[in-house]
Amino acid sequence: MSQHAREPEHADATNQKAGEALAVALDRTLAATPTLTARIHAVREALGGRIAFSSSLGIEDQAVLHAIADAGADIDVFTLDTGRHFAETLETLDATERRYGRLIRVIAPAAEATEALVARDGVLGFRLSLESRRTCCDVRKVQPLKRALEGAAGWITGLRREQSAGRATVPFAAYDATLGLVKLNPIADWSLAAVEDYAARNEIPVNPLHAKGFPSIGCAPCTRAIKPGEDVRAGRWWWEQEDGKECGLHNSPKTDIAINGATR
Ligand code: SF4
Repeated sequence: MSQHAREPEHADATNQKAGEALAVALDRTLAATPTLTARIHAVREALGGRIAFSSSLGIEDQAVLHAIADAGADIDVFTLDTGRHFAETLETLDATERRYGRLIRVIAPAAEATEALVARDGVLGFRLSLESRRTCCDVRKVQPLKRALEGAAGWITGLRREQSAGRATVPFAAYDATLGLVKLNPIADWSLAAVEDYAARNEIPVNPLHAKGFPSIGCAPCTRAIKPGEDVRAGRWWWEQEDGKECGLHNSPKTDIAINGATR
């Protein structure tokens, strides 16, 4: 192989090393930064290029959005419209846009892939099997997310360590080699009580379903209210085993699933 042919690989390795070093430094900085607004400022100052914030419109993400508005930071805010949201979630989106005087970019799944999925599995086909469910999440969430993050230098989320066992070690910042960006979790160390207090003090629009037993709100057919004492994510895909109950947005499960001959 010629030296020229090796260059992109070398450049990728260099970018990854630089990204990892940046993430380590940012992780320390965020841990030592007390307020959420200051953490958003720190992220914006440390990273050049586009920083994207993917909001599910849940209370955690609403808190992060408030801090972004408070900081006046240039952050690309978007949400994934899976086509299966609760009406309350869409009302929350509208209330949020009015509260902050800005439109939030709405990313839709690819029409062709969605039609192929429904043609293969039916409208509620995600209950047929784990594979069908993961395919649905892949088409409606993971692929649109990847499209929205393309070219971004950073990706802000509202993940918290308390949310589930699988999220217990979420760092403030880490380099995601698959996406080629720094993933940022500025409220990783917050408790639910801290999030609720922050939302109440700042009059942040909150999805009314949270008050009806929905601590984690996803698509309507795949989310139910939880009972007292249940895990906060027990209402998500409740017919599945506890292990691995993620949609793939944060753990990238298999994505090369063939639908009518196409891979997505
Ligand atoms: S949460 Fe349910 S409806 Fe939404 S994308 Fe995943 S499987 Fe499909």
